[in-house]
Amino acid sequence: VQANPPFLRLLAEMRNAVRNPQPGKSIVYWMRMGDLRIVDNRALAAASKQAVQDKIPLIVLFLLSPQDCLAHDMSKQRIDFVLRNLSEIKESLGGLNIPLFTVSHTPRHTVPLKVVSLLESFQCTRLFANIEYEVDELRRDLKVLALSKEKGVRPHYFHDRCIIEPGLIKTKDGRAHAVYSPYQKKWIAMLNESIDTYLEESPIPDANSSSIRQDSTFGPLCNTPLPHSVEGFELDPADRETMVKVWPAGSAVAQEILSRFLKTKARSSQLGTTDPLADGAEISNKKSRILMYAEKRDSGNQDTTSRLSPYLAAGVISPRECIRATMSLAGLKKVDAGRTTGIGRWVQELAWRDFYTNVLANFPRVSMGRPYQEKLANVRWEVNEEHLAAWKQGKTGIPIVDAAMRQLNTMGWMHNRMRMIVAMFLTKDLLLDWHLGEQYFMEQLIDGDLASNNGGWQWSASTGVDPAPYFRIFNPYTQSAKADPTGDYIRTYVPELKNLRGPELHNPPMKVADKLGYPRPIVVHAEVRERAIRRYQNPGQE
Ligand code: FAD
Repeated sequence: VQANPPFLRLLAEMRNAVRNPQPGKSIVYWMRMGDLRIVDNRALAAASKQAVQDKIPLIVLFLLSPQDCLAHDMSKQRIDFVLRNLSEIKESLGGLNIPLFTVSHTPRHTVPLKVVSLLESFQCTRLFANIEYEVDELRRDLKVLALSKEKGVRPHYFHDRCIIEPGLIKTKDGRAHAVYSPYQKKWIAMLNESIDTYLEESPIPDANSSSIRQDSTFGPLCNTPLPHSVEGFELDPADRETMVKVWPAGSAVAQEILSRFLKTKARSSQLGTTDPLADGAEISNKKSRILMYAEKRDSGNQDTTSRLSPYLAAGVISPRECIRATMSLAGLKKVDAGRTTGIGRWVQELAWRDFYTNVLANFPRVSMGRPYQEKLANVRWEVNEEHLAAWKQGKTGIPIVDAAMRQLNTMGWMHNRMRMIVAMFLTKDLLLDWHLGEQYFMEQLIDGDLASNNGGWQWSASTGVDPAPYFRIFNPYTQSAKADPTGDYIRTYVPELKNLRGPELHNPPMKVADKLGYPRPIVVHAEVRERAIRRYQNPGQE
């Protein structure tokens, strides 16, 4: 069903928004969980420009709704990361004399009322925000739009999350694409045709004309303290320390990580404790990670990928900036998205991010518990709490699966190939419902993103757009040898196996496993593979 998805309704409703807002005393930019930066931020730049033009101050509002965090299964790691980034933003905005006003609000269904009452108290004339494409958030924004009309406030919503906004790339008959390659072909053609428009860098907010004096009506807002944590989402101090080290906050850090990805070699040691900025990896454009990306991206035993996903998911860096940086590295005026070059392959990953957001926006049912392939809605899943717990804890007895799940549990992040391996293992080998995996990932990931996570899970479960065919089931042992050829990845996260080498490491004989106190495999791959094929062939029956 593709009838009038909520993001199109929001865009249509904007045409009916208040034309001439009431005269007032402020402009408000509502910063959301996914746009945590002041650099290259479309709504913020537009809000600042308006404030300068109207000669009234700009206020940045951040509203935290613990119930929203709960409803989206947001991880403690992600919320902590949001708060750490907010603290950096507060400081940067402070330097520009722009206040960041943070408020926590519950229950979630009254968020629109709360926002509009805040707008009233700020005597706001116009509200600026970047669009969030998740269904609940779009419905919330539609309510805000209706309520602001009553108050004479004009809302302005912007597309900022993607390089090419949802809704623009369509099939010949005007529908949204459900297959990646034709989408990607149009994506690159459209981008290169209007490159200046799509990649235009938005200026940082103006420092002078819209600034607030400390003694003005809104001066006290500059001093509102930021929360250190959200009730129910507090991280253990040790976990927080790891997160601060592995995923430092701030746009400057994100830019540094991008630059190191473009200019430095991959490292293989100490994967578990890697501080993305520590280590003096040799600077060499010839061998930099992005240039080796096409060949090396699936190697979990080295940090061959950018590790920018937490920063992209929280909007600490803009995807446009990532693309611009690849163009300047290649010295090209057009974007390379070819499959053979490292730069091209990496750009394609950013296109996957746009693709899944486009899918979420156009087929919102995929994020509301439905499979994209409705014919697979009633696959009969196993119910096995022990298997689910073993998978979550990294105790399945299959080393690559266990290493990956333990990486997730310690770092709040997992390598892409490993995500595919563990997701395929849960849905095909264990035949457990993909929703359980999708939820557990969101609860643990620092880069949790509804569109990409749902897309990745439905790909692995063969229920999504452009999915893995249900009969092409990964063999975790052969995947292990390919994705971790040196064994460093498994040895880092599964210390019980740290003295094993070669094939024994990927599939330890029972006697060896018993001696090392490592579990025996909870299922036999060859047997359960057949079971999965039978179930998918006859959904609903055994
Ligand atoms: P790189 O390889 O450097 O790629 C650059 C960027 O492109 C990433 O940061 C990410 O923003 C984007 N990207 C890369 N691969 C994909 C992809 N397959 N789909 C969409 N975007 C992609 N990614 C998330 O950001 N959040 C999630 O919650 C998430 N859940 C996933 C769940 C499953 C089951 C699977 C198979 C994949 C999931 N991914 C998710 C996609 C991918 O695994 C991560 O984006 C990637 O591992 C992040 O590492 P990186 O930043 O080093 O990526």
